[in-house]
Amino acid sequence: MAIHDRHVAVVGGGIGGLAAALLLAASGARITLIERVPEPGEAGAGLLLQPNGLAVLDALSLAESLERQGHRLTGAVVRTATGRPIVNATLPHFGPGQDHALAVRRGTLYASLLHAVRADPAIDTRFGCQVSTARTDGTVEYRDRDDLTRTIEAELVVGADGTQSIVRAGGDFGAVARDTGTTYVRGIVDGDDLGLEGEYWTPLGLFGGAPIGGGTYFYAAAHAPAVAEALARRDLATFRRHWADALPPSAAVLDRVPGFDALLVNAVTRIDCARWADGRLVLLGDAAHAMAPTLGQGANSAIVDAAVLSIELAAGGPGALRRYEDRRRPRVRKVQDAADRLARLSAITSPAGRAVRDRGLHLLDRLRPLTAHQARIAQQEDPRLLRDALVRPLERT
Ligand SMILES: Cc1cc2nc3c(=O)[nH]c(=O)nc-3n(C[C@H](O)[C@H](O)[C@H](O)COP(=O)(O)OP(=O)(O)OC[C@H]3O[C@@H](n4cnc5c(N)ncnc54)[C@H](O)[C@@H]3O)c2cc1C
Repeated sequence: MAIHDRHVAVVGGGIGGLAAALLLAASGARITLIERVPEPGEAGAGLLLQPNGLAVLDALSLAESLERQGHRLTGAVVRTATGRPIVNATLPHFGPGQDHALAVRRGTLYASLLHAVRADPAIDTRFGCQVSTARTDGTVEYRDRDDLTRTIEAELVVGADGTQSIVRAGGDFGAVARDTGTTYVRGIVDGDDLGLEGEYWTPLGLFGGAPIGGGTYFYAAAHAPAVAEALARRDLATFRRHWADALPPSAAVLDRVPGFDALLVNAVTRIDCARWADGRLVLLGDAAHAMAPTLGQGANSAIVDAAVLSIELAAGGPGALRRYEDRRRPRVRKVQDAADRLARLSAITSPAGRAVRDRGLHLLDRLRPLTAHQARIAQQEDPRLLRDALVRPLERT
């Protein structure tokens, strides 16, 4: 399938859907983007953009302004609750400017993608419209803002509609959704003066964060029974107290949370699909491969999916969707597995288990080539090559 002048429906206007709309439009497709939220915007806390995601955003000319609004990180230190380093992971250098990650507000990233989408005449946006059905023949049905049922016919339907994907339900993707039993709390508090950068592995699980555009982004495991109970009661004071007992430096951060509603609480579902394409339906992002957040690769992977899909469709031929799946699925699977392993390791509660884990990881961390190799696998694609593959066709438009 060649993409030029084709009609593509993108279902879901999250980070993956917006990136896909922009990249497919740049390859010459006509896009209808359907998103159920009427006024999408500021929702969400922070995100770590990594070299793979940043390379794609750079090709879209969005990285420069994000760099001004975010906080650069060249690696991540994981510490015990007493502050002793366990792992000191440094990001590999992929080329000039591709040697760091960027902590940004999700709203900042979202706003820059949305601004670019709204400015693109090839993208017709339908916000406040909920897709009810997507079929393998390319038919998409949705309820519009006036609650009327509408139908569109597309030559390709991109399912970027998250973990509960309706597009996935419309095809035979061999999907398995698994509740991982892990929950995380996220938030942003005022001030970047709290000294939080990196991650702690504590008896309650992980706690981490970074400065972020005038504030501090934090995230914390919420599956330890005492913490889960406090959250179920919407009891911020008890939540703070448990964390302060497990990790004293968390108190300064959590004391600045203005109220319970400022916390985002997410249970993590893992999605595995045996296939990513069926007929005219194709999946990307969390719809195809939701994963544990421990490697910070969910949104980055969605952005890379969008990039590789656009590259393979632009190359044309009958096997474009197959090439997209072959290139993405095995690499993402490795990242999902690694993220699960990290989630399990960070959640060990027994003192003996944590001591063995910390010693083992500390020894492993000395084998620099091994950790560097893992860091490269997490990026899935060489960011420099990915950017170059995108920039050439984008320069022609
Ligand atoms: C605690 C935590 C921390 C994380 N940290 C990071 C990080 O640092 N870095 C990172 O890369 N990732 C991170 N992630 C993961 C990341 O947030 C997700 O992987 C990413 O947002 C997925 O993007 P997406 O566009 O695929 O899906 P989503 O963001 O879920 O977007 C799907 C969109 O589809 C819309 N939609 C759904 N159904 C319909 C329908 N029927 N009709 C119309 N519209 C529909 C939704 O409203 C939504 O806008 C984290 C996740 C968690 C839980």
